[in-house]
Amino acid sequence: MSKVIAIGNNKGGTSKTTTSISLAGALASKGYKVLLIDADPQANATEACGFENPDELDVTLATIMEMLIDDEELEPGIGILHHEEGFDLMPSSIELSGIEVSLVNVMNRERILKDYITMVSPFYDFVLLDCMPSLGMITINAFACADSVLIPVQAAYLPVKGLEQLIRTISKVRKQINPNLEIEGILMTMVDGRTNYAKEIMELVKDAYGNHVRIFEQSIPLSVRAAETSAEGVSIFKHDPNGKVAMAYNSLAEEVLS
Ligand code: ADP
Ligand code: MG
Repeated sequence: MSKVIAIGNNKGGTSKTTTSISLAGALASKGYKVLLIDADPQANATEACGFENPDELDVTLATIMEMLIDDEELEPGIGILHHEEGFDLMPSSIELSGIEVSLVNVMNRERILKDYITMVSPFYDFVLLDCMPSLGMITINAFACADSVLIPVQAAYLPVKGLEQLIRTISKVRKQINPNLEIEGILMTMVDGRTNYAKEIMELVKDAYGNHVRIFEQSIPLSVRAAETSAEGVSIFKHDPNGKVAMAYNSLAEEVLS
């Protein structure tokens, strides 16, 4: 049985992509078979995995979704790339934004991605979906096929306030499309441990959501080393294997496994 986790937050810059890649790497290093799906037309995860020109790839998530919409036959392995850290990647490209628009007129439009997941998930222990910073059709498709949503939240006041809309959308998807959808947990990211402010924000999140949502024990520290990885197309485990961010993501993986 594989577990499908959407990494989602409708705000940009909350570490969704960094968390997706790092969690994929951490789980792969523990021997799990992982597929990371880049579900953002900005293709940040694809680029950060070292595929610098996503728009030149023959097959991306957009191709797959288009084929499913057109009822075409699909080989499960088609378009899947391999990352040197031992996980697989279904890349994205800007074409995915066109699919988002065209989905509006498609029958069963919330469940297109689910058909793909049903096909590939038997080959993996974990499928991770790096969502885009919106609650449009592609993100709803991701929530519709996921077992849970992992929510990275930047440890600052406004991002924390903005969580309500996301949590409302998750409950709506649970009621109308996917009754099994859970919240995996809220992950505090870019935590500046030197300030009291970060601690206050953590308390705020615990007070507001801690009763019904897991807040991960492990938070992710703010670190220049982490910021450097996106630009260089290498993961934190390669860039700074013994640093605090690599260690934090390893222990996040332990929490997800527990
Ligand atoms: P999202 O996918 O939510 O938009 P990203 O993972 O792309 O977020 O992160 C946004 C920016 O913040 C990127 O430039 C990234 O390198 C940087 N970043 C992510 N995590 C950290 C961290 N722990 N410390 C410092 N910078 C980070
Ligand atoms: Mg992103």
